[in-house]
Amino acid sequence: MTCPTELPLLSSRPPRIVSYAASAVMLISAAVLLAWSLHAVVPRLVLLGPRGMKVNAALLFIVAGMALWIFQDCRRWWRDLAVRLCGLFVVLAATLTLAELIFHSNLGIDELFYHDDTSLGIRGRMSVLATVSFQTLGAALFWLVSPSIIARRAAQCLMLATLLISLYIIVSYFYGSTAVYSFDNYGSMAPQTAVNFLLLSVVMLYARDDFELTAPFRKQRIGGLLVKTALPGLAALPIILGWLLLKGEQLEVYGIASGVAVYAVLTVAVFGRVVWYSACALNDVDQQREESRQREQEMRELSSLDPLTGVLNRRSLWDRFEREWSRCTRHERTLSCVMLDVDEFKSINDTHGHLSGDAVLKVIARILVQESRPSDIVARYGGEEFCIVVPEANEAGAYGLAERVRRALLADPIHVAGQAVQVTASLGVAERSGPDDHMHALLERADHALLVAKRMGRNRVVRASSLPDTGTLDAPADAISAT
Ligand code: GH3
Ligand code: MG
Ligand code: MG
Repeated sequence: MTCPTELPLLSSRPPRIVSYAASAVMLISAAVLLAWSLHAVVPRLVLLGPRGMKVNAALLFIVAGMALWIFQDCRRWWRDLAVRLCGLFVVLAATLTLAELIFHSNLGIDELFYHDDTSLGIRGRMSVLATVSFQTLGAALFWLVSPSIIARRAAQCLMLATLLISLYIIVSYFYGSTAVYSFDNYGSMAPQTAVNFLLLSVVMLYARDDFELTAPFRKQRIGGLLVKTALPGLAALPIILGWLLLKGEQLEVYGIASGVAVYAVLTVAVFGRVVWYSACALNDVDQQREESRQREQEMRELSSLDPLTGVLNRRSLWDRFEREWSRCTRHERTLSCVMLDVDEFKSINDTHGHLSGDAVLKVIARILVQESRPSDIVARYGGEEFCIVVPEANEAGAYGLAERVRRALLADPIHVAGQAVQVTASLGVAERSGPDDHMHALLERADHALLVAKRMGRNRVVRASSLPDTGTLDAPADAISAT
């Protein structure tokens, strides 16, 4: 059977460390196997010793290392199957050994992998903790390739369990504890075995990018930096403090009570420092986030306003208008629109200059805002044209507003650069006609009414509802206000 499909590499980071560690574990284990098979006394004592790595443990490490190496580097279709089979083999062998240990029986598994060498005092059967660790490691390998989230989480928990067991053994050796090897005949886990377990479990946690346990380490963010810088020290400190406590007691520098008190105080100090550091980092991040949120709000406000007049620009008019239109449609409310165009503005520019023209536009915008309600949407539609969307107002109401604006402009000349400029405007008013109406159609009707006002002689307000549907520019007298 051939399967040309190439599997994607599940892991990409860190790229080589997983296969390097797998190779290192296989090499150490191969050296152990060689020493056993050569029956070489010296290397067996140095490499294995009475508390050395057992031959069956070495064999299982080679299988586990190979599985990890295949998982990381192989892209063939059989990769997942091979990894699962290796995992299963490790679990099975470890379980059979454990059964032999528990029931003090001989299932034959010992005979396959090792022979006791009583002359050197070397026992071949691995310890209880080693069998348990191989079980967790093998099961983790089995689930390492699984796409299921539950299996992925289970694999991580098992790797963590392996890591903690091996760390316990290493720390126990460091402290000179005899508990790890005087438990019973097969109580000891060799230091090299513990190191192999530690190495494998740590790199296995890095084997997949989607492992939640190592995700914070991978992030190139403040949290990732914090974990990377703080965790090694934090992990090493209690171990070193514990060692100091132990040594002080052994040398009778202080009694157990004062030793534990010093240990407790130092632990509080260390954790206090870590909490303080984390709090500072979090406060900084929070402040920066608040500042950037404020800046974003300011930018959004600035970009929604017309820079000359300070009223809404055309783009945000559409946004607000759309929102208002949907609200009115949903609640069947009325809404109107006023379009305004300054009369003969070109001649104002020509007579008083463009800067004065700009100043006039600013004053007009201010008048529009003054005459409108806060809920009305006042916007510069373009050039010297303005638009007011008037929610909750029928055409008569909007007409009232338009008329107030027209009269306010007419009432007082606008003073710019020491000159009084008399400004008038023409306005068109239209009302939302019902559920089938569209906002563009409403604007068009208001614009059309404005055009009629212009054609009728400017400085007046025209109501769209009073115009004939044909769009003729001849409007009935009651549709028009003028001076
Ligand atoms: P009508 O009564 O028919 O509207 O005549 P009008 O002169 O107002 O109309 P027209 O469209 O011919 O001229 C509009 C002028 O408004 C032309 C343009 O230079 C001027 N304008 C547009 N935007 C600005 C602006 O931001 N500042 C100034 N100063 N003038 C502007
Ligand atoms: Mg115009
Ligand atoms: Mg104009």
